[in-house]
Amino acid sequence: LAFDVHTHTGLALFPGHGSDAEVLLRRARVAMRDAMQAGRDYAVFAPALDQEASRRLALMGELRYAIERHQLALQLQPKLHLASAAICGAEALVRWKHPLLGQVPTFEFITLAEQAGMITPVTHWVLEATFRQRYAWHMAGIELPLSVNLSAHDLRDPTLLDKLKGLVETWGAKPGWIQLELTESALMVDASAAVETLHSLKRLGFQLAIDDFGAGYSSLGYLHRLPVDAIKIDQSFVIPLVQSEDCATIVSSAAQMAHKLGFEVVAEGVESQDALRRVTELGCDIAQGHFVSHPMAADQFGAWRAASPWSSPASLAH
Ligand code: C2E
Ligand code: MG
Ligand code: MG
Repeated sequence: LAFDVHTHTGLALFPGHGSDAEVLLRRARVAMRDAMQAGRDYAVFAPALDQEASRRLALMGELRYAIERHQLALQLQPKLHLASAAICGAEALVRWKHPLLGQVPTFEFITLAEQAGMITPVTHWVLEATFRQRYAWHMAGIELPLSVNLSAHDLRDPTLLDKLKGLVETWGAKPGWIQLELTESALMVDASAAVETLHSLKRLGFQLAIDDFGAGYSSLGYLHRLPVDAIKIDQSFVIPLVQSEDCATIVSSAAQMAHKLGFEVVAEGVESQDALRRVTELGCDIAQGHFVSHPMAADQFGAWRAASPWSSPASLAH
């Protein structure tokens, strides 16, 4: 058994950063968190870090109320099926509009919620909103899958499967209505437990996708054990694609490998017509990104799709 161990050290100095043990320890911990976030071996405490830490703490305190005060909303970002040139689904992305701070960047509050052990209520809210939205689509005759992002913590949440079962029953959800996106790094936290959870999710009728593919450290040998339907190639390879031959090679190799394993290939971060053409040439099946559309309020989706060049109904396979 091999362990890959990393350490991050936080330093607080007596007496400049505090004169009693409790304050020094707390500030050393704040510095350690800074080192972790920056991916550095160590960091020294600085007063600005304390302000940042209090800001985060305040934000997390307020996230508790954000749900009950209806400050969260879903946006949808369409996915384009390349061969049929038709919209074939959308990804649900959560947004938090704070009454004083305005829009809080999603990645920031999701990461904070994960660290603070508060992701479960957020995930449950997002799942409820997504099922409700998918049902509304069904009633409006839009039969496309909606994707939801899950966190590493969600995979270990013992209530996740029951929550999902309950939602499937409540909304009469059909298999394939909802796709779940899991990042590579989330799957690697406890790989064998993750594989089991994925199997249970598949049995419940969910499609599964590996998000941010290529950005984590998953071993390739482990991929074939995953019961997933799609991989989403990380935007860090797709955005520079038009200028970078290296990125083109990575995208096309990932697509080939994924196809051999029977997975569908989504390119994330398609920002231009050129990028769309390139990902098509390199063998991707689906494109998502600003060129197709920025994420939009859920109630705009139907009209947007009807007015887009990709309005013909996609095959139900997607
Ligand atoms: P993700 O799942 O990989 O989502 C794609 C992100 O890329 C979104 O950012 C989207 O707005 C952005 N994006 C889409 N097209 C383009 C493009 O062409 N160029 C560029 N530069 N960016 C593009 P967003 O909404 O800020 O979300 C960031 C991340 O936060 C997501 O990455 C996902 O990991 C996480 N996230 C978002 N919503 C949820 C949620 O409901 N639950 C959980 N657990 N995580 C979420
Ligand atoms: Mg995603
Ligand atoms: Mg992604």
